[in-house]
Amino acid sequence: MIRIPFNRPYATGDELDYIRVAIAAPKFSGDGSFTAQCHLLLEQSLGIQKALLTTSCTHALEMAALLLNIGPGDEVIIPSFTFPSATNAFVLRGAKPVFVDIRADTLNIDESQIEQRITAHTKAIFLVHYAGVGCEMDTIMAIAHRHQIAVVEDNAHGLYGRYRGHYLGTLGPLAALSFHETKNFSCGEGGALLINDEQFNQRAEVLREKGTDRSRFFRGEIDKYTWIDVGSSYLPSDLLAAFLCAQLEHREQIQSMRRQIWQTYARELASWAKTNGVRLPVVPPECDQSYHMFYLIMPSFEARQALISHLAGLGILAVFHYLPLHLSPMGLRFGGRQGDCPVTEDLADRLVRLAFFTGMSSSEQAQVIDAVRAFHCQEA
Ligand SMILES: *Cc1c(COP(=O)(O)O)cnc(C)c1O
Repeated sequence: MIRIPFNRPYATGDELDYIRVAIAAPKFSGDGSFTAQCHLLLEQSLGIQKALLTTSCTHALEMAALLLNIGPGDEVIIPSFTFPSATNAFVLRGAKPVFVDIRADTLNIDESQIEQRITAHTKAIFLVHYAGVGCEMDTIMAIAHRHQIAVVEDNAHGLYGRYRGHYLGTLGPLAALSFHETKNFSCGEGGALLINDEQFNQRAEVLREKGTDRSRFFRGEIDKYTWIDVGSSYLPSDLLAAFLCAQLEHREQIQSMRRQIWQTYARELASWAKTNGVRLPVVPPECDQSYHMFYLIMPSFEARQALISHLAGLGILAVFHYLPLHLSPMGLRFGGRQGDCPVTEDLADRLVRLAFFTGMSSSEQAQVIDAVRAFHCQEA
């Protein structure tokens, strides 16, 4: 029996009221008043010029690939240790992933290995701020400028995290957020495209509205709308935006609850980690993290599996994370080979994520901590 889940969706209490308002409104399809409110909230809280809600982070990444005109023959640099969404976004357009290894400390793309992978065909770098800890963006943006390639931030983990004081998702020309139920802020399924270069504004609206200029028509800027580009249906219902709006309005409360849970794990597991040869997450001084997850790097694959089953025996769910993309069935089709990304291959086998969710009670967390402390690594 599961006593403590890995994740439990959280509601602030305002969601139902907002959904009632949305239902009573003259329209609750996409781009209603709650969607507008979410756009404003994101733009103002992040200090950016444009945010567009999407049906998922995956779809925001697809929009990014379309906006960058990524196509057949192009190459895109991506860490092997990430979720498949970003890779699919450009593989769907006919481009090829070029997998780069990660740094052993933050598990983010290893910026020192990017430049050697750039060729005349490289169109973009799609990176992820793993666990909401920023990538080494100064170095990465300098490389991107030098080679005239775009940077897309998959910021599914990192909303309100910062790198050198700048919010994650505001550093590259395009960034994607996720509001999937496992993320810090949620509406079940949802996402957003953040646009930090206004040259993309108008086309992004068109791609999101089935390749039409309907957004301009609704604003009264044109008197009819028509098919002007490729596109799809990337805008969520205003009912979902109503739910999300309640979450974004409570961002400080949600983040402070998560901060407290994260800090409790770090404090209470420090000495256990030391005696058992376990590594806790590393947050470099230039990064303010988003408190998205708490992971452990175990001394071996066997120790990781043993901890997961020890916790499962006590009704506590703990889970591993990404399998290296270059060794996945799709990655192999793009030429991935064992040994290409040794740090990814090693850490993916040893990482385990502990139960971590907004609204986790202190007694639930104490049970997880006690259960982890009762586990002893054989090798240590
Ligand atoms: C969750 C996640 C996604 C996918 O988000 P959806 O909103 O479910 O499409 C993409 N990238 C990363 C890094 C994620 O964690």
